[in-house]
Amino acid sequence: MLEPQTRPIPHGHGVHPFPHRHLTGIFGLQPWEITFLLDEAEQWIALNRASAAKHDNRLAGLTLINAFFENSTRTLLSFEIAGKRLGADVVNMAVAQSSVSKGETLIDTAVTLNAMRADVIVIRHDASGAVQLIADKVDCPVLNAGDGRHEHPTQALLDALTIRRRKGQIAGLKIAICGDVLHSRVARSNILALTALAADVRVIAPPTLMPAAIERMGVTPFTDFDAGLDGADVVMMLRLQRERMAGGFVPSPREYHALYGLTPERLARAAPDAIVMHPGPMNRGVEIDSVVADDVKRSAITEQVEMGVAVRMACLDVLTRAQRGVEGWA
Ligand code: ASP
Repeated sequence: MLEPQTRPIPHGHGVHPFPHRHLTGIFGLQPWEITFLLDEAEQWIALNRASAAKHDNRLAGLTLINAFFENSTRTLLSFEIAGKRLGADVVNMAVAQSSVSKGETLIDTAVTLNAMRADVIVIRHDASGAVQLIADKVDCPVLNAGDGRHEHPTQALLDALTIRRRKGQIAGLKIAICGDVLHSRVARSNILALTALAADVRVIAPPTLMPAAIERMGVTPFTDFDAGLDGADVVMMLRLQRERMAGGFVPSPREYHALYGLTPERLARAAPDAIVMHPGPMNRGVEIDSVVADDVKRSAITEQVEMGVAVRMACLDVLTRAQRGVEGWA
């Protein structure tokens, strides 16, 4: 069993609970650092639900650049709303991904972003490792909004927050992450976060979409969907990422659905109160049936989107504390 989430957050003696300049991934975070970000996010949920003013201006005067080199709807919008609710000046730079080579172009990008004197930069890029490369070159905190197949840390945090709120805890839960694990940064970040928080994580994928040696990440792999779902408390579906597939990883969407699509019959194998999750965008009728996705009792999918704003507010706040001179962080 890995470190349980109940371990106290170290305070005092000059140690603050999130001693990282950037958030480029879940990798390298301690369980209590993850829990700290989830706890911080809780405070924003009520503000986001307020029917009147939804502002807290603690980032007033700071400039947030959302630099998205890969398409995004919900993540870009979520970071934009999070930044605006905290009072930052938000600038979105949506650059259609070209076939640029990495190296020099990325470094040029970093230099350009740095010259704009942003106070915090959120980056999405289709190359794994691109965000870290830029983070190493700029003077302000950088948040990874998804880099290639590598990581999508705020997605994992919002998923963990959703699970914790629905189930009351994460430690000991049976969580099945299902589908195109091979191409999924969401799966990777979630595996890192949920195993750190002591969940019992299973990954379910066709053999062609199962990363080699995945059990080294502390999960149990299944290629049989029904067997992997048995008694699961959380069923997290992944999008079939056809844009990342060069060649025939799956015979056809129809056949994929027959073997790996989440139907009500399949869901019946999970725990009776199991919740269903999906990071979006969904391929309805491929990895998930509409009747499951839209089942208000089981589906936590819209709650995931809601928690996304709270988690991103927490991350923007925490990462800018040092430069804002917040006591104990500067
Ligand atoms: N929106 C998520 C991501 O950016 C999941 C997906 O695209 O399938 O990785």
